[in-house]
Amino acid sequence: MRLPLRLFPSLPAPVRTFSSVPAGKLNFVPACSTADARSLELLQDFVSRSRRLFVVTGAGLSTESGIPDYRSEGVGLYARTDRRPMQHTEFTRSAKSRQRYWARNFVGWPQFSSHQPNCAHRALRSWEEKGKLHWLVTQNVDALHSKAGQTRITELHGCAHRDCVSCVLRVTCLGCGSITAREELQRRFVSLNPDWSAQAGAVAPDGDVFLEDEQVLNFRVPSCEQCGGILKPEVTFFGDTVAKATVQFVQERLAEADAVLVIGSSLQVYSGYRVLLAASDKKMPIAILNIGPTRADHLAELKVRGRCGDVLSVIQPL
Ligand SMILES: [Zn+2]
Repeated sequence: MRLPLRLFPSLPAPVRTFSSVPAGKLNFVPACSTADARSLELLQDFVSRSRRLFVVTGAGLSTESGIPDYRSEGVGLYARTDRRPMQHTEFTRSAKSRQRYWARNFVGWPQFSSHQPNCAHRALRSWEEKGKLHWLVTQNVDALHSKAGQTRITELHGCAHRDCVSCVLRVTCLGCGSITAREELQRRFVSLNPDWSAQAGAVAPDGDVFLEDEQVLNFRVPSCEQCGGILKPEVTFFGDTVAKATVQFVQERLAEADAVLVIGSSLQVYSGYRVLLAASDKKMPIAILNIGPTRADHLAELKVRGRCGDVLSVIQPL
């Protein structure tokens, strides 16, 4: 079925913000031209053909909410800084690394948890309400899908947000496994560091902020109140693996779906790419909406280059 182009009468100008966030927040969205009408037509056709759509989202969806991604050309964290996300082994082996991580996380927490969903998150929520979206898997830990009201969702890497009721938002002890609320840890940070303060720089996709090494030297990190063990946020660090039960659950939802749409992810992280490999094995139709190249471009029948919010605003869950 070919859809008439008049379905898209008012394509957004390249710099227009649909998400009603302050213009400054778009600083983290990579430069790109508006998706062409033909691509939008094909994507609409792809979505219309699906009855049980499986969606995979990544950091590209949240850049329009003011959270930078890792890999985008020019504006991603890797391009702008020499900072890299915490690796699992680095966190477990190095007390200094944990001190740096928690000091930055302590400072970034209030700002990180204040980010709001944008029109792309809201569009996907409406796709769920209208029965188009069967399941959504996200690699993001910003809880913006949950804030938008999404319920048919798996957060692959956990969620670092304090208001999130659907998953993590918790801190776990690597010694005894006891779980505490992230909010509780914030209170312990304050009481252990009454005179410590630092200004937050830009917040990273995982809630990390820029702080100089000397700023964190005197920051005191609490340990588990039960056993004295190491406290770790219940999010999956780079280099760690997603729980087997979660992987299994996602594969089951994928098996129930009839098509896969990737939105705002380069799929460089294996946990997301694995979903696409499985979909390809099942010969499911795959479409990708992303500004830059992705690891699964060769598996997709359709690739649309454009801003997530701009494009999703004009695609109807018909
Ligand atoms: Zn413990």
